[in-house]
Amino acid sequence: MNVPLMSLQRHQWHIHAQGRCGASCTGAGAGAGAVTLDAVGRPLIVLLTGAGISTDSGIPDYRGPNGLWRRDPDAEKLVTFDYYMADPEIRRRSWRLRQQTAALGARPNAAHQAIADLGRSGRADVWVITQNTDGLHQQAGTPPDRVLELHGSARAVVCTRCGDRTPMRGTLDRVTGEPGEPDPPCRACGGILKAATVMFGESLDQEVLSAAVAVAQEASLFFAVGSSLRVYPAAGLVDVAVRGGGRLVIANAEPTPYDALAAEVIREPIGTALPVLLDGVRICDTE
Ligand SMILES: [Zn+2]
Repeated sequence: MNVPLMSLQRHQWHIHAQGRCGASCTGAGAGAGAVTLDAVGRPLIVLLTGAGISTDSGIPDYRGPNGLWRRDPDAEKLVTFDYYMADPEIRRRSWRLRQQTAALGARPNAAHQAIADLGRSGRADVWVITQNTDGLHQQAGTPPDRVLELHGSARAVVCTRCGDRTPMRGTLDRVTGEPGEPDPPCRACGGILKAATVMFGESLDQEVLSAAVAVAQEASLFFAVGSSLRVYPAAGLVDVAVRGGGRLVIANAEPTPYDALAAEVIREPIGTALPVLLDGVRICDTE
């Protein structure tokens, strides 16, 4: 993937505590609770999103307290690379689960829309780093080159032998077609296909991870949304953002290990809280 990292280094951002903007700042529109940035040019705003942002879209949080992983210990094998490669029955179950998930027809919710709207507004340079593989940020209108998918994408399928990459839809059509192919092989080489997600036992894409670290480092404002912040690399990115001088805002139903570092912690449902929060971001033109 092409990430225009150089563009991040052309600007110097700084941020003032709320209410301490320069004399030329009118503070217009910065109501109570608004996050006020004092930026030279456009500030970089990063949103790190986890499963909690997509539950309102009907996508289950597999790792959550009532998640599939807790209810069915075997379910973890479906997303563990070695089991998947070794056992055709695991692959058949995995494709059936993909098919069921696709059939839910999940749509972006108000939180995904609010993030896309903030990007479109041009008020800030907006990047999304996501632990989700559902593609809902892009579907909501955030440009694909502004979405860093740490765990890959369930919207695509990749061949484990030749690397051929195709859309998920076409493969699911093969699974459910007549006659169905319950474990469809790669059409290019006959190899085993899998969703283009990062399974347990696989490495993260280093290019995506490097880009995520770079944007976290440069963030003026770093929102952690719907993530427990208990797993790598999400937790590490929060550290990077805070060390880089970014202001941290956390929106999550449950406490996270980073709450004490956050300028603001929001416990309200993300689908209602995030649109209000992002609408409250005001960029003050001083300097
Ligand atoms: Zn292949």
